[in-house]
Amino acid sequence: SFLALRMIKDEAGAVRPEFQTLPTSDLTGGDTLIKVLYSSLNYKDGLALAGRTGILRSYPMTPGIDLVGEVLSSDTGELTAGQSVILTGYGTGERQNGGYAELARAQAAHLVPLPAGTAPQWAMSVGTAGLTAMLAVMALEDHGVKPDDGEVLVTGAAGGVGSTAVSLLATAGYNVIASTGRPAEEAYLRELGASGLIHRDELSSLKRPLEKERWAGVIDNVGSTTLAGAIASTRTHGTVAACGNAGGTDLPSTVFPFILRGVTLAGIDSNNCPMPRRKAAWERLARDLPASKLAGVTTTHDLRDLPQLAQEILAGKVRGRTVIRVQD
Ligand code: NAP
Repeated sequence: SFLALRMIKDEAGAVRPEFQTLPTSDLTGGDTLIKVLYSSLNYKDGLALAGRTGILRSYPMTPGIDLVGEVLSSDTGELTAGQSVILTGYGTGERQNGGYAELARAQAAHLVPLPAGTAPQWAMSVGTAGLTAMLAVMALEDHGVKPDDGEVLVTGAAGGVGSTAVSLLATAGYNVIASTGRPAEEAYLRELGASGLIHRDELSSLKRPLEKERWAGVIDNVGSTTLAGAIASTRTHGTVAACGNAGGTDLPSTVFPFILRGVTLAGIDSNNCPMPRRKAAWERLARDLPASKLAGVTTTHDLRDLPQLAQEILAGKVRGRTVIRVQD
């Protein structure tokens, strides 16, 4: 048997978290059995744990969109017992039971081998947030944004995706401007490599279709008026990578930045990212975001802290990344 944090729906239709001990035979849906060592907390996990609709597709369900662990057994022959593997996305912790449990089942084809020279805890310090930040940096590069082109903006900078994006961009030599609603995090953001800060209200108050050109590239985690302001102030032929919706799902923009300035809006989806690009991103994360750089960004908690942590991440109070220790 194993311990899991389950989201259950009661007879009245209310959804709530409950710690349960389940028989191993309850785990279905994958060819590989994994002993989960660590998971992490992402914004999406906060939504799931708070019982918000739209994340978990059925109940009961174990949330946790990220996990790292050790293969106990695998039916496909691609993996060997004892191997360390990372699972993020592919509906983990949404459509299938996720990382907030001592055991998990997954498809071997969805597992990324832990990069050489890294530790399981490092992988969860990166997690979906770090993978997303890496994919966003790669998208800017693919669209030709170079360090010499000028300032690159990161919105929601003190959050999980934002913090890792600031660090990765600074490591790659970009001049990073961090947008935050928490000016108290200035020292933290400068430590990560930001060369300047802009208050989030300044971006969201940019209402004209075309504003003064400033950003060579943008990594946005906020959406809504923040993303619209960022697009309107992006330089000719610059690229904006849209990652998140922490500030809203709407996009009150016009076509003018796209048709008059050739701005590219690149969508980032870590959940279904194809395996070759996913593996390339993890290998580069292992190179560019070593554990030493993540130490200041990461806080570690136990499974039992999750219900409280969910409230904090939804209130925008969590700084950087939160790793969840799953085994005692
Ligand atoms: P997070 O740690 O909670 O960070 C979100 C940050 O957004 C906060 O720290 C805050 O930054 C800012 N923010 C929060 N509420 C806001 C508001 N009302 N208005 C403006 N800014 C606000 O979450 P995360 O895990 O990094 O995820 C960030 C976003 O990316 C989420 O929307 C998440 O769903 C999305 N995401 C997408 C993918 C993908 O594959 N596309 C993957 C992972 C995450 P400051 O305090 O610095 O302002």
